[in-house]
Parts: sequence; C-alpha cells; structure tokens
Amino acid sequence: MRLNSKISLFFSAIAAALIAVLVAISLYAFRSFSIATATDHIRTAAEVVRVHLTEAMITGVIDQRQQFLRRLTEVQGLKSAYVVRSPLVDQQFGKATKGEVPPDEIEKKVLQEGKPMFKVIESNDDLIFRGTIPYIANARGTPNCLQCHQVRDGDVLGAVTMTMSIAPLRQQAILTVAGIVGAVTLFVLVLFVLLRHLLRPISDTANAVEEAVHQAIDGNFKGHVSKKTEDEIGQIASDMNRLLTFLDTGLNRIGSQVAMLTGRKPKPDENLLTATIDMVEGLTKASHFKQAIEEDEAKVEIYQRLSTTLQDEFSLGEFSIYEVSHNKNEMSTVIIDGNLAAPCRWCNPQILERPETCRARRTGHVVDGLIQPDICYAFKPPNDTQQRGYLCFPIIQSGVVGSIVQLVVKEDDKERVQAALPYINVYLREAAPVLEARRLMETLKESTLRDPMTGLSNRRFLEEYVETLVANVRRKQSHLAILMLDLDFFKMVNDTYGHDAGDAVLKSLAQVLKQAVRASDMVIRYGGEEFLIVLQDASGPAADQVAENIRHAVEKLRVNVGGTVLQKTISIGLSDYPDDSDTFWQAVKFADVALYRAKETGRNRVVRFTPDMWTDKHEY
Ligand code: GH3
Ligand code: MG
Ligand code: MG
Repeated sequence: MRLNSKISLFFSAIAAALIAVLVAISLYAFRSFSIATATDHIRTAAEVVRVHLTEAMITGVIDQRQQFLRRLTEVQGLKSAYVVRSPLVDQQFGKATKGEVPPDEIEKKVLQEGKPMFKVIESNDDLIFRGTIPYIANARGTPNCLQCHQVRDGDVLGAVTMTMSIAPLRQQAILTVAGIVGAVTLFVLVLFVLLRHLLRPISDTANAVEEAVHQAIDGNFKGHVSKKTEDEIGQIASDMNRLLTFLDTGLNRIGSQVAMLTGRKPKPDENLLTATIDMVEGLTKASHFKQAIEEDEAKVEIYQRLSTTLQDEFSLGEFSIYEVSHNKNEMSTVIIDGNLAAPCRWCNPQILERPETCRARRTGHVVDGLIQPDICYAFKPPNDTQQRGYLCFPIIQSGVVGSIVQLVVKEDDKERVQAALPYINVYLREAAPVLEARRLMETLKESTLRDPMTGLSNRRFLEEYVETLVANVRRKQSHLAILMLDLDFFKMVNDTYGHDAGDAVLKSLAQVLKQAVRASDMVIRYGGEEFLIVLQDASGPAADQVAENIRHAVEKLRVNVGGTVLQKTISIGLSDYPDDSDTFWQAVKFADVALYRAKETGRNRVVRFTPDMWTDKHEY
C-alpha cells in the first residue's frame, strides 16, 4: 500500500471514530440533560399542584381540582396531569366519585414506596416523559397534613402523574449534534487537506526514490529525484541525486574502460551494472587463461586450452584451429571440434596445401561468414549438416598469420555467438603473444638444431635427442643401425671447382640421403662433408642393404655445377646399437672406425664394424 493511501486510510479511520464518539457523547449528554430538565419541570409542577391541593382542601374547593389541573397543563406546557389518591385517603374520606382515575402499576408502586418514578415513552410520533411524584404526609408546616389526614408522618397520601413531550428537546439535540458533527467534519477535512499537502513532498520524494532505485537495479543510473522542499526530505532528494550521479559516472568510467579492453560496445538498453560485472568476470577468466597458457610448455597445450575454453566458456562444439607452418607454405589442422589432430572438417582440405586459399590466412583479417556467408570459398561443411555460418580469426604472430581459429555456428546460435565475440576476442588476443613466443622459441631451437645449408639436423640435435632415442630402443628392445658417411676425395671438388660447387654437391647429397631412408630415420650433417644416419628398427643384413642403397644412390648422383657434371662416391662405416656397444656414442665411434676401414680399403664401399677393428688401436 502506498504511503499516501495508508495515511488517508489511517486518517479517515481516526476521523470516523472521533466523530462517532463525539456523536455518542453528545447524544447521551443531551438525553441526560433533557431528562434532568423534564424531571425538574415535573417536580416543580408537582409542588405547585401540592400547594394548590392543600389550599383547595382548606378552602373546600378540592372538587374543582380537575379544572385546575387542566389549566396547569396549559400553563406548564404539560401534556397531561392527574392526581391519584392513596387507599389511606380513600379509607378516611371514601372513594372519590368523578374524574378519578384508578392508579396504574407505576402509580401503585409510587403510592406504596413513596418514591417518584420517571419514564421515557416512545410513541409513534412523539417522545413523552412521564413522572409520578408522591405526596407524603408530614407533621411540619401550617397547616400540616396530619391535622386533616388520619395518617402517620411519612405515609403516602397520593401522587400526581404528569406527562410532557420532550420531542422538541430531542429535535434540538439532534440539530445541535448535527451542527457539531458538521463543524468537526469540516475541521477534520481541512486538517486532512493540510496534512496531505504537508505529506505530499514526503510521498512524492519516496515514490521518486523508489522509482530511481528500481531503475538503478536495472542498471540505469540516470534517474532523478526532484527536490520539493528545503528540509530533510529535500536533503534526501539531493543526496539521492548525488549518489546516482556518482554511481552513473563511476560505472560509466569502469564500463567504458572495461569495454575498451573487450572491444565490446554497450547496447543502449542494457543493464550497465550487470554488463560491467559480466565484462569484469570475462576479463578475469581471460586473465586466468593467460596465466595458464604462459606456463604451458608446448604450443599444442595452448591450443588445447583454447579449445577447452571455446567448449566450456562459450559452449561451442564446432570449430577448428589451424596452424600455419614456419615457411608459410602449409597449414595443418591442430584441433577440430575439440579433438586433437583431426582431419580438416569444415573447410576444403586444399587450404592445408595451399594456405593462400584460406582467406583469413591470406588477408590477416577476421573473416565474418555470419554476416557475409559467401565471403570465403574455402568454407565447406559436410553435406549432411544443417545450415551453418562461420567466423575465422587469424592470430597474428611476429607480423604474420600464425594460427587461425574458425568457429562454426548453427543458424539459431548466431546471435549468442555474436554477443560473445568480444570475449572470445579477448582470449585470442591473450593467446597471440604467448603463441608468438612459443613459435619464436621453436624457430630459434630449430635454427640451433638444424644445418641451414642442407636443411638436415645437426650434431646438437642428435645430442639433444639421443636420450629419447635410446630410451625408445631399450623399451622396444629394438636396434639402431648407425651409419657414418664421408664423401671420397671431396677436398678435390673445392680445390678444382670452388667452394660453391662443393656446397652444391653437399646439398644434392643431403636430398639423396633423405630420400634413401624412411621418414622415421635420422639424417644428420655430422661435420663438413661427414654425415651420420640412424636407422630405426634396423639391424643385420637389412641395415647393410640400406647402406648399400645409399652408397649406390650417391654413386649414381650427378651434380651440375656451372656446366660441369660432377660425380662423387661415398664411404660408409656401419655399427649396431646395442649389439656393438651398449653406449650409443661408443657405437657411433665404432661406425667411424668402420668408415676409416672403408677409406683404407679403397673407398666407395660399406664396411660393418667388427670388434677386431677396435683392438687394432694403433691405426688411429
Ligand atoms: P677422403 O676421401 O679421405 O675423405 O678425402 P677428402 O678429400 O674428402 O678428405 P677430407 O674428408 O679430409 O676433406 C674434407 C674436405 O671437405 C675439406 C673441406 O674443404 C671440405 N669441406 C668441408 N666442409 C665443407 C663445406 O661446407 N663446403 C665445402 N664446399 N667444402 C667443405
Ligand atoms: Mg671428411
Ligand atoms: Mg672426405
């Protein structure tokens, strides 16, 4: 219930009760007053009658008392007056003959008890007051009653009954009460209007404060409470306005700063408070995400965490994360729909071999297929799936597109995803520098572990990798064949055709070596024109065969250097880990020993290590 109605109701109730009590008291007072007045009147008249009757008795005209009573009624404004005689009088003087009325019940009682009785009688159109006053004999006064009446002092001689109308009195009472009630009502009304006038600013201010608070809960702090008075109520209005302005500017500042971080534009009708809370929550989560990925070791962990975030935070089930290779010639799928290393699902697979067909990769801009469905030709969802939109974000690393996050969005999910985009962007923005750092580290590591001229791994790589390699062999109880290779009379190439020709030969040789072995085997540029090849799961004749194939392939290799075709041979020493030695580096040494033996025994050949070569130490 509003304050205004509450006060009105309360005031009306009080006023009604007040008027009711007033009416009751007034009516009661008037009634008592009327009765007292009538009683007095009748008593006086009775005294007059008594005096007259005494006189009449003395002068012997008692028989004319009816006439007197009639006159009396007229003079005194009575309705009726008559006298009844007590049985004691009847005993002495005999029953009266005419004009005598036998006593009624009331009169009998009065004659018996000697006490006056009064009564109000309500008749149809009148209100009558009746009084019966006894006449009691006493021995005082002159003449005294006992002189004529043979009764005792205190006996009742008779009574007079008189009636008078008190209707006019009542009428007057009602009129007076009505007047009072009217006056009081008027007074109450004036008071009420005055009170309402005084209370209006309070209730108006209260209503305005309530409205402003409601708006504030809905995030609108633009509400204003108008100041009606210069008192405490006016102060409340001013304070409320100050508070609202303070909150509004404060929240706007926080909101716009947070919005700047998310790049999210506030909507005109949105709840500023909840929007800001949402944004701050989003940023906090993103900051936790950043902390986590900064401590992740490998890039793939970062991609996985990003994938989990897309699934858990943004309820996205369909998306791809692609990675562009270091030389930018290839792309690979890292994650599809939350699964690692899945094949290309949402795009034409040709983007993997020809990354320039991926629009996001080529332009470095966000490709919004939600707004422009036809913008990229490479988007190719499986035929059986329902209509879907896409959204591809390039993640720039070191100035180039390093990774691409592709969101696939169902038609009815578009709006939700679009609303979440600013937050998704925050995550991508946080991920970019961390991915960049990892990528740089990978590149750096690559450069230290790779021989730039031939593109083969170098000796440091083998040193780093050997532990894993040996552990694998032990676990699988397999063998490694270690081949040490050295070109025959290579110095001569440099001497005859120059260093560049020598380099060209080495590059071609590297290709031949790579092609001659399986992808899982390792080809390492071990020194200047020395190479080391580690064959996985190869031992005995199979390893011999691979070595022989290599020797043969090199023999067949023709390198064209400035019009001259060069042809070289290679010598290969071969050992087996762990058959020849249970330490890897010792086995490498034995391969080198075998190579020496190959050179020694005529070059262009494969020599397998045998223990006797090692005991013959003086040859080194
Ligand atoms: P051998 O059959 O005994 O091995 O005879 P060789 O001439 O090959 O002798 P050796 O292995 O001692 O010669 C190595 C030569 O390889 C020395 C150097 O001029 C050359 N060489 C080493 N690294 C490079 C390189 O990166 N580029 C070029 N062009 N030549 C290199
Ligand atoms: Mg050499
Ligand atoms: Mg050599």
